[in-house]
This record gives sequence, C-alpha cells and structure tokens, in this order.
Amino acid sequence: EPQAPAHFIRHIIATDLHSNKHNGKVITRFPPEPNGYLHIGHAKSICLNFGMAIEHNGTCNLRFDDTNPEKESVEFMESIERDVQWLGFKWAELHHASDYFEQLYLYAENLIEQGKAYVDSLSAEQIRIYRGTLTEAGKASPDRDRTIADNLDLFRRMRAGEFADGQYVLRTKIDMASPNINMRDPALYRIRRIHHHRTGNDWCIYPMYDYTHCISDALEGITHSLCTLEFEDHRPLYDWVLNELQTPCHPQQIEFARLQLEYTIVSKRKLNQLVTEKHVSGWDDPRMPTIAGLRRAGFTPKAIRDFCERIGITKQNSWIEMGVLEHCIREDLNENSPRVMAVLQPLRVVIDNYPDDTEQLEISNHPQQPALGKRQVPFCKTILIERDDFSDNPPPKYKRLVVGGEVRLRGSYVIQCNEVIKDTNGCITELRCSYDPNTLGKNPEGRKVKGVIHWVSEQHALSAEVRLYNRLFALPQPDNEDNFLDAINPNSLELLSDCKVEASLANALPEARFQFERNGYFCLDKDSVAGKLVFNRTVSLRDNGEK
Ligand code: ATP
Ligand code: MG
Ligand code: MG
Repeated sequence: EPQAPAHFIRHIIATDLHSNKHNGKVITRFPPEPNGYLHIGHAKSICLNFGMAIEHNGTCNLRFDDTNPEKESVEFMESIERDVQWLGFKWAELHHASDYFEQLYLYAENLIEQGKAYVDSLSAEQIRIYRGTLTEAGKASPDRDRTIADNLDLFRRMRAGEFADGQYVLRTKIDMASPNINMRDPALYRIRRIHHHRTGNDWCIYPMYDYTHCISDALEGITHSLCTLEFEDHRPLYDWVLNELQTPCHPQQIEFARLQLEYTIVSKRKLNQLVTEKHVSGWDDPRMPTIAGLRRAGFTPKAIRDFCERIGITKQNSWIEMGVLEHCIREDLNENSPRVMAVLQPLRVVIDNYPDDTEQLEISNHPQQPALGKRQVPFCKTILIERDDFSDNPPPKYKRLVVGGEVRLRGSYVIQCNEVIKDTNGCITELRCSYDPNTLGKNPEGRKVKGVIHWVSEQHALSAEVRLYNRLFALPQPDNEDNFLDAINPNSLELLSDCKVEASLANALPEARFQFERNGYFCLDKDSVAGKLVFNRTVSLRDNGEK
C-alpha cells in the first residue's frame, strides 16, 4: 500500500497527540441523518472519520442524527449500518441522538436557568424577519426579556404538550447584532407533534441540529468533530453551547470540503426525488451514486476507499472527475476479477470440419494471476461470436473475422470463414467456418493470425440479460440546470436481453464480479433467476469518456 498523503486534518491530529490536547486520544464519529441512503460523498466522510481513528489507534462511533422524524426511517438506518460495514469499517459504539433527548432537555433547562435561553412566541416567519441581514442588525423579540421563572414554566409546558405546534420556540440568548447570523439567538427547540421511529410519542418538542450535534459529540467524548465546510459559520454556536454548559469534554470541530463529483448528484434530497419519481429503479439502482447503487453496479469497497484516499482532504471546494472513480474500480477489477467469455450480441458460427462431440478446453481465469486458477470451457461444432466481430464489408485494418480470413478463438483454435448465410432480408444469420486442428495452444504454421475474438459454445451457453449502464446525467454539473432532472442522460441504460454467457457462470452468486473478455467489467445482479442470469456493467475496459 502506498503511503497515504498528508492533509491538514492528519496534521492537526498529529499536533494534538503531540501536545496531549485530548488526553492523547482520538475519538471521531460519523453522524448521518437517517433520511436517505448513503452516497459517495458520505463515503468520503466515513473514510476520513474511521480512517483517522484507525490510523491513530483511536475509535470511531456511528451516530444517527435522528432529530427530524418526519423524514427519517428504520429502512434508512438499516441501510446505513449495512453500507458502513460493507465499506469495511467497524464502529466502536452505535448511538442515536434521540438517546440523548432527556439529557438535551435538561441542558436546555440549565441554559434557561442561566438566563441564556428564552421561550419566544414569534412565528417562524417573524423570527426570520427579526433576525436581520448581513448588512442590518437583528431586532430583539418582545419575549427576549421574559423572566427566567416564566421561561422555565413555559418550556416545561412546551414539553408537557400544552401548546400547539409552532406556538413557541426555545431560543438561545446570544447576540442579535452578531455579524454571524447563526449567532442571532438561534432556536434550540421547536414544538412538533410527530411520531419518532425510536421514541414514539414521548416527545412533542424536538431539539435543533446545531444544539444536538455539539452536545452529542461531547457526551460521547469525541475529540475531533469532522464536518463539511458549510458548518464553518456554525462553529461559534457549537463552541458557545459547550462553553455555557458543563459537558464532559469540548470536542474540536474541523471543517473540510465536501465531495462534488461530476456527472452525478450528491444530495440525499435530490437522490430521494430520483427514487420517488421513478427516474431510477430504487436507491440501489446501479446508476445511483449511493453506496448501495455502486455496490449493485459491481464496485468494490476497496475501490471506493482508494478513491476517497486519492481525492484528498482540503478546505477548497472543487469538482472531481467521474473518471477518477472509474479509474479506481477499473484498476481493482483488472487486477482481481476472473475473466470469462460472454457474447452480448450473438452470431452463430458452424465449424463444418469439427467432429460432433464436445471438447473441454482448459482456460486460465486471469492472465497475470495464476492463483485465480483455471476452468473448463466446452467447445464444439456450433459456437456463438459477437456480431460485430465479423464483417462482410470490413473497414481498413479490420482484424477480426472476414470471409476468407482467419481469426483465433480465445483459448481455442484458429478458424477461417468460408461462407456467409443470410436471410431473405439480407441479414446475416450464420457463418460457415472451418478450423485448423493444429492451432490449439500454438501458432498456425506459415502464417500470422492477428485477431483474437471471444466465443461461447451454443449448446452449453447460458442465457443472460446484460444491462449496459452509462452515466445517469449527460452534463457534468446537473445542479447548474434550473432543474437537475433536465440533465438526466436519456441513454443511461441499454438493455441487451439475448446474451449468452459461458457455462461456468451457472453457479455464480449475486455480486460476483467478472471481466467479460473484451466487453468490460460486469457483476451478477440480484434479479437473476434460473434460466436467465442478469449482469450489470460496472465499467468499460478502457476510459472512453462513457463508461
Ligand atoms: P445531504 O445533503 O446529502 O443530505 P448531509 O450533509 O445533510 O448530506 P448527513 O447525513 O448529515 O448528510 O451527513 C453525514 C455526514 O456526512 C456529515 O458529517 C456530512 O458532512 C458528511 N457528508 C455529506 N455529504 C458529503 C459530501 N458530499 N462530501 C463529504 N462529506 C459529506
Ligand atoms: Mg446533515
Ligand atoms: Mg441533509
């Protein structure tokens, strides 16, 4: 493994360890909101948080930031656990922000008792107007000077369910003139009568994200709270809350640039829209940039981790080319996936001088990896080759099969085409060929045969559907369109339903990955049934700007 590149967060952690800042510990957390499936952007955060912990003998927690029940679900939580594990990481502790609801409530009473929070009756709209703008100071709410006793009483009655949704909010009392608008008395609690997937109907008030996050970090003893750049302006609030309360520790929030990947979308809200409006078949559609989608497309955890390491960690927003992710998976699959033969658009070839029986040819599964072994591939008189591996009107330099020409069948003999059979429409239905019995595993005598094509035995081959996936979006930055849906690639899926694959694939399991010789990298889909295998294209063999 190459040495991981240095980055500023590694540097901060090394410095903190050196100065014993957090008692020599590194405890990080990955804190997803369970309102969708994880995507490749989350993978960056997962690899960073777990990676920093592993590298420094620390630990990393998985914490569900589940304070927004209307958008969250158990399905999403389960998918998140599955995806983090699949990526190869183990959390030290599994937590839910909702487990801290009682504690968060008590801390809020404490802020009220210190005179640092108040119950406000302004509407959400009024609060927004009172908050002011960048160039204009905010205006105090008439409720800002409510007494501590009244605030406590009202807050307890908010919890007890005496008020309607939205009738009151609990706000911090910080500074309505702060140049940072996030510090102009941000809300801590709102009234919301909604069932929570874990706490049921126990609560009708729910804590806000910023308040919940810093306290959750502190309760878990997090040392380095790594988050994306948009939270930079929230860091003063993070620190304010922890400074005002006697929490067990004060984690350091550190921001880094979020991943932006060309030709796709990394926003759970928009991915959710793709799913609910059926632009894709689900969260795990192989075109989706979700972990589940990448997995179903045939990506490996190693390739995704490699990608996250390669793109680095900085404080500058930038766009990463899709080619980088594709390069990572291509490299892994080239090295590790067994080769098999699959004919996507079959054309029958009859070898007239071949006997009527079957010969088992032994073919190695990987040209450079003997450890991947060999397999038996049946060969007989009637085989199938790729339609475009024959031409009766060949362009210059065409190296494949032509009438009167020869070609090598991969792992087998050299054949020559003698006759083309066409139907009444002029469509080629069959080639009549002959083979040279002296060419198995050796060059033909006295002549050079340049082309090598793949094939399958017609009588042994298995039927398959092959799904050729292309990029989901036709434009590099779909978010630049008025509506990102306008950037959807109309040709993101090409279905080939009459493919034939070699018999050795009969026992392949879903998620098994292969190189289909000369065609690309493919993985067996869960939609496969006996008699009809289904394969997804992960990526093409070479970078051709498509897939
Ligand atoms: P989305 O907009 O997709 O909902 P989010 O940031 O709201 O993203 P969370 O569930 O809150 O999603 O994310 C969990 C963690 O993953 C957070 O720490 C967040 O900063 C990080 N994260 C989310 N998207 C990216 C991204 N594109 N690049 C890097 N980290 C990300
Ligand atoms: Mg979030
Ligand atoms: Mg979000």
